Amino acid sequence: MSSHTLQKFLTENLEELKGKGLYNVIDPVEGANGPTITIAGRTLINLSSNNYLGLATDSRLINACNEATKKYGVGAGAVRTINGTLDIHVKLEEKLAEFKHTEAAIAYQSGFNCNMAAISAVMDKHDAILSDELNHASIIDGCRLSKAKTIRYNHSDMEDLRAKAKEATSSGLYNKVMVITDGVFSMDGDIAKLPEIVAIAEEFDLITYVDDAHGSGVLGNGAGTVKHFGLSDKVDFQIGTLSKAIGVVGGYVAGRKDLIDWLKVRSRPFLFSTAVTPGAAASCIEAITILMTSTELQTKLWENADYLKKGLKKLGFDIGHSETPITPCIIGEETKTQEFSKRLNEEGVYAKSIVFPTVPQGTGRVRNMPTAAHTKEMLDEALTVYEKVGKEMGII
Ligand code: PMP
Repeated sequence: MSSHTLQKFLTENLEELKGKGLYNVIDPVEGANGPTITIAGRTLINLSSNNYLGLATDSRLINACNEATKKYGVGAGAVRTINGTLDIHVKLEEKLAEFKHTEAAIAYQSGFNCNMAAISAVMDKHDAILSDELNHASIIDGCRLSKAKTIRYNHSDMEDLRAKAKEATSSGLYNKVMVITDGVFSMDGDIAKLPEIVAIAEEFDLITYVDDAHGSGVLGNGAGTVKHFGLSDKVDFQIGTLSKAIGVVGGYVAGRKDLIDWLKVRSRPFLFSTAVTPGAAASCIEAITILMTSTELQTKLWENADYLKKGLKKLGFDIGHSETPITPCIIGEETKTQEFSKRLNEEGVYAKSIVFPTVPQGTGRVRNMPTAAHTKEMLDEALTVYEKVGKEMGII
């Protein structure tokens, strides 16, 4: 018999969410998450995946995964610090360091886990963290877990960051102060002002932490936002995920060797949770090798992103101020945004709506993620649907 208090809690809260239209219904994808997807038997043009380079279905990664699975089996067998560190995990970490131009790297089970692990391994209740107000949920949770004082600064507002850095470092209240930012902001596609952030960090001796989940594989010839600005030796923590452009699963920190040594003995998900499967590690190594030897996929990604952006803008949609392939179509009102996404779906385009609380109230949007795997024909078809639904709903 289930607890009455739990039952009451679940019924009340689920009903409230459903009543407000905020209960997210999940549609399982029947098959690969490629440039098209099949949901409930219907094949749609997919503009919602983070599979930027199409590597999730690349035969080279699939072969690497199969070979490693044959050799090592499907699971690592133990946590990293017992005997679950397979040589393929070490190879992945060496490859990541090479990819990010750092002394060393440490791999985690996901990007989310990585932020929970890395922030709390270094920061504690005697410290402060300056965090961009639009940083990802995993950064927010990582900061909370650390118990450091989190001070939010206005999005990419360098005057605000500078003033808060000055105040925090001169207050005498904190042992260490860190500045944390996404490299590319996931809901708007704008790039963090890293040269200014690094300059402020140097002025006030801040620890620098950049989560480049959406920049790696996309900017800096694939190496990411930090490399894009030529700041590889100026950022203490370079965080990334292996689930977006790399196409697989996992997360990592790249940085100086002593930092990585510390994370290996003090970050709890490394110590107490089993690593990614050998097959996943092998696929990631293959993906990074591809990224380090060719820019073909990035060139295709940017061509497709430019094409879609120009097309949507020409039709009259508000695509915000994106500087990367992430292309929002800002609709505004929440229910209208959801209706727009639903109509796109009915017409053959899968582009998910993103509304409050993920983005501020009144800035609901449909977020488009063009990839290297889309063809021009697919993008043209999507634009035709956008035009039809946009006109029908009075958005353009
Ligand atoms: N950080 C940022 C900035 C992200 O956008 C995401 C992905 N939603 C993550 C971390 C989490 O990455 P993962 O899906 O690998 O856990």
